[in-house]
Amino acid sequence: MSFSEKNIKKDKSSKSLPGAVNPNAAQQFLRKKKKNRSVEDFVKGIIKGDRMILSQAITLVESTRSSDQSKAQQIIEACLPHSGNSIRIGITGIPGVGKSTFIEALGKYVISQKRKVAVLAIDPSSSVTKGSILGDKTRMNDLSLEKNAFIRPSPAGTSLGGVARKTRETILLCEAAGFETIFVETVGVGQSETAVHSMVDFFLLLLVPGAGDELQGIKRGIVEMADILAVNKADGDQIAAAKNARREYRNALHLMPLKESEIQPKVLTCSAIEQTGIDEIWKLLLENQKLTKKNHFFDKKRKEQSLFWLHEQIGNGLKDFFYKNEKVKKRLEEIEKEVLEGKRNSFSAADELLNMFLDKK
Ligand code: GDP
Repeated sequence: MSFSEKNIKKDKSSKSLPGAVNPNAAQQFLRKKKKNRSVEDFVKGIIKGDRMILSQAITLVESTRSSDQSKAQQIIEACLPHSGNSIRIGITGIPGVGKSTFIEALGKYVISQKRKVAVLAIDPSSSVTKGSILGDKTRMNDLSLEKNAFIRPSPAGTSLGGVARKTRETILLCEAAGFETIFVETVGVGQSETAVHSMVDFFLLLLVPGAGDELQGIKRGIVEMADILAVNKADGDQIAAAKNARREYRNALHLMPLKESEIQPKVLTCSAIEQTGIDEIWKLLLENQKLTKKNHFFDKKRKEQSLFWLHEQIGNGLKDFFYKNEKVKKRLEEIEKEVLEGKRNSFSAADELLNMFLDKK
């Protein structure tokens, strides 16, 4: 069960609680819950930085009901002029590398720098296995108590693209609510990094000492994506191993071509538990931001990301129309059979369906 599912379950059971004590309280509770907040109220509340209203707006974003979706879109549209002034950081690493401990340490440090932090997550496992790698444990307890922190677990979804889209929209809402430092966490297992990459400015890869790439299950593409590599757990008797790992990664990075952003990826060591090296990582992130703002890569990348999501959405919308079309639905089954039996080739079969959809036949 994913974290969000758990929360929903918890929410349902808590509905019955007030009634057990006082039936009026139960009714009031339900009425309050059902109260239909207008789009303007949502927007006002978000811009004021009201975390409860922000949470409820994200719930609309995550909802599959079309009325919720259209409300969510109106809220996002109205919040758009208030978002964007931020730094968005993707954080990845294999399970156990220390992501939640690290984000808690970095988050608290960033808050001490008078900033507001939102932590979001993209957990592809919640859609694939219905279990959740990121969400199931109790995470970031300390950080969640900070009033300048907002933590939201990964939305559940049927596809990684769907989960990613919801997170992208959630980023915009968090920014409008004044959370100008956004962390998007994901597991270092492949595709989800690409999804996160399409919505963040910088990418930080967490590593552990004493394990090569193969052991850490990290794909080369992910190392290439990273702007900062941080060898975590550089404490106790692992300090020397962490330094070794840092040297190895530094050597490996030398072979990589210069990035379009002009960022020279750096390898640092840190200890999330002892909170050492955290300030350096933050300083480096700000330096990267300064550099890419100056060479205009920062804005260019954000614009490209907006276009990417525009086309993603068009693509998904068209697919939806296509597969929900009654004529297509009927004929698709027969055509699939014909293709499987080798009676039709896939391409002409697809053309037939597309032409049918476009009423050309
Ligand atoms: P995640 O699965 O990547 O989110 O990793 P967690 O943050 O849950 O940490 C996994 C384990 O590593 C936990 O037992 C942490 O206490 C431990 N851990 C995390 N950061 C450090 C660190 O800096 N030093 C040491 N020694 N252990 C750490």
